[in-house]
Formats: sequence, structure tokens, C-alpha cells
Amino acid sequence: MTRENDPLAAFWMPFTANRAYKSHPRQLVAAKDMHYTDAAGNRILDGTSGLWCSNAGHCRTPIVEAIHKTAASMDFGPTFQLGHPHAFELASRVAELMPAELDRIFFTNSGSESVDTALKIALAVQRSRGQATRTRLIGRERGYHGTGFGGISVGGIVNNRRWWQGLPGVDHLPHTHDLTRNAFSKGFPQQGAELADELERLVTLHGAETIAAVIVEPMAGSTGVLVPPVGYLQRLRDICTKHGIILIFDEVITAFGRVGGATASGQWGVTPDIITMAKGLTNAAVPMGAVAVSRTIHDDVVYNAAEDRAVPRLYL
Ligand code: PLP
Repeated sequence: MTRENDPLAAFWMPFTANRAYKSHPRQLVAAKDMHYTDAAGNRILDGTSGLWCSNAGHCRTPIVEAIHKTAASMDFGPTFQLGHPHAFELASRVAELMPAELDRIFFTNSGSESVDTALKIALAVQRSRGQATRTRLIGRERGYHGTGFGGISVGGIVNNRRWWQGLPGVDHLPHTHDLTRNAFSKGFPQQGAELADELERLVTLHGAETIAAVIVEPMAGSTGVLVPPVGYLQRLRDICTKHGIILIFDEVITAFGRVGGATASGQWGVTPDIITMAKGLTNAAVPMGAVAVSRTIHDDVVYNAAEDRAVPRLYL
């Protein structure tokens, strides 16, 4: 209970009309499989699987038992200069689910942290390859990449951007939500692949040598479910390859089954250089995220960094 004797006063809820919520609270008190139970005892079908995160259903016994067992045997083990077998085993198992080329895994605590980590890895790998002028990051309008400074900078949701200045040197691709041609589509929209060519325009405008990375959600989820037009992701892939730009797919929503395969990249046959994930990684039962990178990126950043002597270890 807080000083004003109001049990709802202390918690400040994200992305919520707080005053309205607190005058009419809708409290969930339990969850099992596909349903929540509210404070009045109503069963509510969880049609969005939490926040796109409880992919395997709520309170699954194997997950509950695994969390309990781990917390009871070693609740925390550092990963600075020391390790523990669980992290290595989990990384190997996550790598098996990723597209074959992306089998080096870095762990984080959330999707937002995965995004900021991926952007930092992209800057680091460009620098380690002698491309230190490549500092520009390209996001996409209507994109959502979490709440870190990197994520809001490359994200394209106006209200998430206008209050904070964000990172300098960021630009955005146009979104693919085409109300005239593809307002609603069954499956992949047939038109719109040419929107990826806007990246060529940004390359002409800024110079490829200033651009480190492009980040997009393969399927946007937070501003409407925007499935990519046929050929769009491949076209982005080709332009990035042509200009030495790192392509990041933010799969925080799409990984772990959301689009019918372990990743949207694998399911749709377009492999980026970096994949971010979180949410379904632990079924949201433990806050955790990860970043998968190609072996070349890993080796360039971790083993071969041009500045290895000056910066002996890279703290991501
Ligand atoms: N990236 C995408 C595509 C997301 O949808 C989200 C959250 O919905 C995030 C990043 C941020 O993840 P988190 O809320 O775990 O920080």
C-alpha cells in the first residue's frame, strides 16, 4: 500500500491511459493455456498471446518446472569471464532454429535490448572492417523496435519519437501499408516490392559509405499486422548486399512460430545478417532476448576487430 493508501498508485503502466485504467482497472489474476481469468472470475480468450509473446500458451508445466529447477539449482551465474553450461546449451539450441548462416548467439534481457545490441553490433562490425564512416542507421516508418534510444530512433511510430531526440544520423524507409492498393490482403500483398528501392534513393542521398545498417520487422506488428509485399524483403536483401549494408530483421514478434516457422527469415527464405528476438524465446515466462549473427560478423567483431589492441573486449 502506498502513502496515499491506494494500491494502484505506485505502478506507472507503459503504453496505457493510466488515469482511465486506474478509475476502471481491468485486472488479470490468472492464466492457463489460451485463457486469462480476470478479477471477477471471467475467462478471457487470449487472442494476442499476451503481447505476442506467450506463443506456447500460458503456465505450461514443462516451462514452469524448468524455471523452478533452474532457480533452485543456480539462480544466477555471471557471464563476464566466467560461464555456466546453460547459456552455452541454450545458445546452441537457439542457433539450430535460426537460418543456418546465423549461428552465433548473444543474450539480452528484452526485445528492446536486443534491438539496441543489434544496432551496436552493426556499428562495431563496420568499424572492425575498416568502415568507420558507416554510422548511419536506417529504419522504417510505422516500425516498432522497442523503447531503447536506438529502437525509438530507428522506429517509425511518431508518438514514440517526438518527445526524445533519438540518435543522430538516422533515416527511414517508407512503410508498406498501402491503403490504395493493399489495404487488406489475403497472404502477401502482390504489390509494393518497389518500396524497397527507396533504399537505393537513400544510398544516393547519403552515400553508401555512411550507412551501417538497415533494420525492419519482416512482418510489422505494432502498427497493424503489415505482411511484406511479395519480393520486398528479398529486394532489401539484394540492395544491402550490393552496398555493404548490414541487414537486421527484428524478429521479436515473428520468431518462434508466429508466421509458421521458427523465424520469418527461414519461413520466407530471406536471410538477414542479424536477427533480434525475445518474447517467444522463453514464452515470456522469463524476461529474455537474444541476437543471432552470422559467423563472419561474430568473428569480425569478437576476434578480428581492427581495434583489438585498443579495445581488448567489446562490451555490448
Ligand atoms: N521489436 C519489436 C518488433 C517488437 O514488437 C517489440 C515489442 O513489442 C520490441 C522490439 C521490444 O521488445 P520488448 O518489449 O521485449 O522490449
